[in-house]
Amino acid sequence: MKSVFYKDLKIYNSLSGKKEIFVPINKKNVGIYVCGPTVYNNAHLGNCRTFISFDIIHRYISHLGYKVRYVRNLTDVGHLENDDDGEDKISKKARIEKLEPMEIVQKYTLDFHTIMEKFNTIPPNIEPTATGHILEQIDSISKIIESGYAYEKNGSIYFDVIKFNKVNKYGKLSGRKIEDMMNSSRDLDGTSDKKNPQDFALWKKAENNHIMYWNSPWGKGFPGWHLECTSMSKKYLGDFFDIHGGGMDLKFPHHDCEIAQSEAIDNQSLAKFWMHTNMLTLNGKKMSKSIDNFILPNEIFTGKNNFLSKDFSPNVVKFFMYQAHYRNVLDLSNNALLASEKGLNKLVDGFNLIPNLDSNNKKSDFDIDNWISNCYSRMNDDFNTPMLMAEIFECVKFINNVNIGSKNLNKKDKEKIQKTFEIFLFEILGLINEKDSNSGKSSDLIELLIKIRNQARVNKNFELSDQIRNDLLKLGIQLNDEKNESSYKMI
Ligand code: AMP
Ligand code: ZN
Repeated sequence: MKSVFYKDLKIYNSLSGKKEIFVPINKKNVGIYVCGPTVYNNAHLGNCRTFISFDIIHRYISHLGYKVRYVRNLTDVGHLENDDDGEDKISKKARIEKLEPMEIVQKYTLDFHTIMEKFNTIPPNIEPTATGHILEQIDSISKIIESGYAYEKNGSIYFDVIKFNKVNKYGKLSGRKIEDMMNSSRDLDGTSDKKNPQDFALWKKAENNHIMYWNSPWGKGFPGWHLECTSMSKKYLGDFFDIHGGGMDLKFPHHDCEIAQSEAIDNQSLAKFWMHTNMLTLNGKKMSKSIDNFILPNEIFTGKNNFLSKDFSPNVVKFFMYQAHYRNVLDLSNNALLASEKGLNKLVDGFNLIPNLDSNNKKSDFDIDNWISNCYSRMNDDFNTPMLMAEIFECVKFINNVNIGSKNLNKKDKEKIQKTFEIFLFEILGLINEKDSNSGKSSDLIELLIKIRNQARVNKNFELSDQIRNDLLKLGIQLNDEKNESSYKMI
């Protein structure tokens, strides 16, 4: 345990609307549950923002010395088009792509894992699926029926929100009023089996044409979307655990329903801290597939999109995401990515200067211990990555000054800077040390060839400059000359 720093971690709790000191339920062990993707689609960059934010949270809490069990589910059944109503998203995609539902699940799970790996995120310790936990969900429903907060109608089971709300408050997270909660328009047209439009499905009867169904005490059917997370988080983290997270758009109805289900089962609000990440926007609007306003990560990495002027590496995209606090909206734009690329290069250049800095001085002109403590304070303040970045750049400025001989550094402090950079950049923020990896080396080599070619052009040695351009093209590297600068693209 990092004794100096771990006591100071404060986390904004959506349940209380305040930053609270983080004291784990079980001293050294921390349980985190994050709602994962519904695997019927390629994950877009908005989805990635949420999972990258929780990756940092997971990494930082682990760094402080806690033993973390990180659970992130995969929704592979029960998420209907209008959450509680309509066609199952997986079944619909299976129909459109003419595949088995489980082929859809496999295809998009693989895609999700590949993208998460490209972003260098740490996989969860457990990644449970809804279809793998039907028995647990049936058990949860039986308990809710026993507690009197669920009823059966025509082979489906619904949560009785109105009855529950008379005893426990429903909507604690979103703060919505019960009269404003109407789950879907179909509830209003008199065709629904629900007693009240606010009620939500725990179990849905499978109609004859439904392909994904299981036997249950109430007949053939499938679980409601909100149930899987209550059942699976309780199974792997206990009835009341430390942190439950997801995107802001999951507060209602998903998380309010999860809390209600848990309280109906055992009177516990499921998790001590509820954390919500804000949205990534594009052109000022939420990045979302449903309104055709999205970019896929691979489109950004390969430059194959109509929106951006060039490709950007996963590192740059991650660095861009750290420019906003996870609870603030972040807008994706070409300029913001270009600025992030520049910022990241400056940071990495600073980091790479450290080993060669002159440290033959008695004293340093920079209070390193105070700087380290500030870095931790920023992260302890509800994982404030933009403020952490500002601290790190303060030190980059100092490094550059030492490099040109205008500031002094001693040996001990040089070691501390090196170690702290490694901890924050690679261990906590999960950036990839590209200069250390082969891909980093090859990009350095390409830059070197561009430099030699530019020199050849200045010397009017067009034969050599053309040869470099053509040979690089044969290797799938396309040069682009603009004014006095050349950039490259992998094709
Ligand atoms: P889904 O697969 O739609 O259930 O979404 C998976 C996760 O991505 C959820 O936690 C969503 O809240 C989150 N999410 C969806 N769109 C965005 C966005 N534009 N920005 C940030 N997170 C998002
Ligand atoms: Zn969930």
